[in-house]
Amino acid sequence: MLDVKKIRNDFPALHQEVHGRDLVYFDNAATSMKPAEVIDTLREVYSKRNSNVHRGIHYLSMRMTEEYEAARRRVMRFINASSEREIIFTGGTTASINTIAYSFGEEFIKSGDEIIVSAMEHHSNLVPWQLIARRKGAKLRVIPMNDRGELLIQSLDELISDKTRIIAVNHVSNALGTINPVKEIITKAHDRDIPVLVDGAQAIPHGNVDVQELDCDFYAFSGHKVYGPNGIGVLYGKEEWLEKLPPWQGGGDMVKRVSYEETSYADLPLKFEAGTANYPGAIALATALDYISSLGIANIAAYEKELLDYANHRLGEIGGLKIYGEAENKISIISFQLEGIHESDAGMVLDKMGIALRTGTHCAEPVMTAFGIKGILRASMVFYNNMEEIDRLADALKKLKQMFG
Ligand code: PLP
Repeated sequence: MLDVKKIRNDFPALHQEVHGRDLVYFDNAATSMKPAEVIDTLREVYSKRNSNVHRGIHYLSMRMTEEYEAARRRVMRFINASSEREIIFTGGTTASINTIAYSFGEEFIKSGDEIIVSAMEHHSNLVPWQLIARRKGAKLRVIPMNDRGELLIQSLDELISDKTRIIAVNHVSNALGTINPVKEIITKAHDRDIPVLVDGAQAIPHGNVDVQELDCDFYAFSGHKVYGPNGIGVLYGKEEWLEKLPPWQGGGDMVKRVSYEETSYADLPLKFEAGTANYPGAIALATALDYISSLGIANIAAYEKELLDYANHRLGEIGGLKIYGEAENKISIISFQLEGIHESDAGMVLDKMGIALRTGTHCAEPVMTAFGIKGILRASMVFYNNMEEIDRLADALKKLKQMFG
């Protein structure tokens, strides 16, 4: 369904040599490459239309404000939020989660309360909750996983108690590729009136996300992982929750009236957008979302499934290669180790062969600990990758095994 050859031409950074070899870019879960349309949008905003938003009454400022707010509506439509008041632009997933951990935590978490996370969180959806738990004297509880890397969500029946204040869980694991049953988690949580924050950093690029259908209370993602620019991200929050929460940061744009005695806050969503907005980033992010919508999210998911199946097949031929994360339901991420070869050594040799993949703990150290390992190699593939690149990885891994005896 996708014309991958043509699509690859939209991504200038894919067409380069690394160490004299054509680049194979399999580090998409860390950050994705950008289509020319996104790069051009940034260039055009800065070179022709730049002006600060929500401040000036002059032409450029008014026009940029309109564009920025239109970008918000484009994001709203992409995740099917019910109102633009529910879309907050942040610096990325980490900033979005910290906003809620702090703001929700300050208002609703007290000593003795509990916060539930899962056994496969990125540090960004773990450490902010640890920080607030420590400040408030609350406790973290963890949804366990099996050795295929699937969450045991029936354990939620025991984990959820009268002390549970919020559940924070990733939609897709960056380390294992598992697509978690967030809808079921949300239903169980809502049965007990507990809100759920979903870390969607790895989900948004790979499948349709409909926040109303999920019924999540908060949803976080980053622009740079979904073919948009760095330094921009989104926090979706149900209006009823965002209205109840105090702002996280103070500054310009998030206020209505300010005096030494009293300050009143701006209406949503600006209450959570202190300081000059990253309007070029927001507009270019909307361009990125429009770009993937034009390819069709369902087409992307179907093609990436083919990539995953083929990679499983090719890497499965390699003796001594162990895959971590074999969930029934997963995205196009393969994490693995080669028996007797340290992942950093393997990563460095692959790099010399022009193949970029990620090595280490993947900012998910507890996941490594759960599997009794220190780190893994991760090939994360997206719609602009192709079968020939997977062949190159498989051949390189075979060579690497020979080199290391
Ligand atoms: N959550 C998950 C699942 C991730 O994969 C990442 C980044 O890899 C993050 C959160 C943090 O994203 P960012 O660094 O863009 O804030």
